[in-house]
Amino acid sequence: MNKGILYVISGPSGTGKGTICAEIIERRDIHLSVSTTSRSKRVGEIAGVTYNYTTPERFKSMADNGELLEWAVYNGNYYGTPKAQIEDMLDEGKDVLLEIEPQGALKVKEILPETVLIFVIPPSMKILRDRLVSRGREDEEEINDRISSAKWEFMQAFKYNYIVENDDLGVCVARVMQIMDQCTAERKKIYQLLNS
Ligand code: ADP
Ligand code: 5GP
Repeated sequence: MNKGILYVISGPSGTGKGTICAEIIERRDIHLSVSTTSRSKRVGEIAGVTYNYTTPERFKSMADNGELLEWAVYNGNYYGTPKAQIEDMLDEGKDVLLEIEPQGALKVKEILPETVLIFVIPPSMKILRDRLVSRGREDEEEINDRISSAKWEFMQAFKYNYIVENDDLGVCVARVMQIMDQCTAERKKIYQLLNS
């Protein structure tokens, strides 16, 4: 059986990654990985669905025990991708989607070079800030921290396989799905050649 494809979506906070991933999992047969984090749960988030929430100590022991495919510190909190389930799904031929920041994304690419990295950009910095403000999840100080992190994150975009602008949501989601369809077709062809 052909292996599933691992896709990673990154981009600065507020650019629309979560919204895009929610649209994709509605439309495609793909598993969205649930990360583990030491950050506290926010209003509207669901434990086990948005994230698995844990303490910094427990997070560190998960990392030390090799339970995470990658992990990173973002604005003072730990975030990591649980390993076992993802490996099983890929081996079973299922596609998997990770929504993670660039330090983690680039580690995944190092470990699994066949991973497809997609970087989502906002139309402008003004729109990025407006989206963070209108989401209303972070206070002003945290919004400023996230905007500062965005500058470093944009520099990482050059290392990604694809860069997609999220101006109109529908257009952006269609482009991501087009990339996925193209990757599926290309890999199918490669597997056919390998098996012939
Ligand atoms: P991220 O997961 O990248 O931090 P979100 O998905 O939470 O970002 O989106 C941030 C805010 O921007 C949300 O309020 C969301 O509804 C809004 N948003 C996302 N995409 C668009 C878009 N294309 N046009 C306008 N608003 C958007
Ligand atoms: P938030 O606090 O907004 O939910 O997430 C902050 C950042 O952490 C986002 O860029 C998000 O993509 C990233 N993130 C979420 N889960 C993971 C993960 O498992 N690993 C890494 N490296 N980053 C993650």
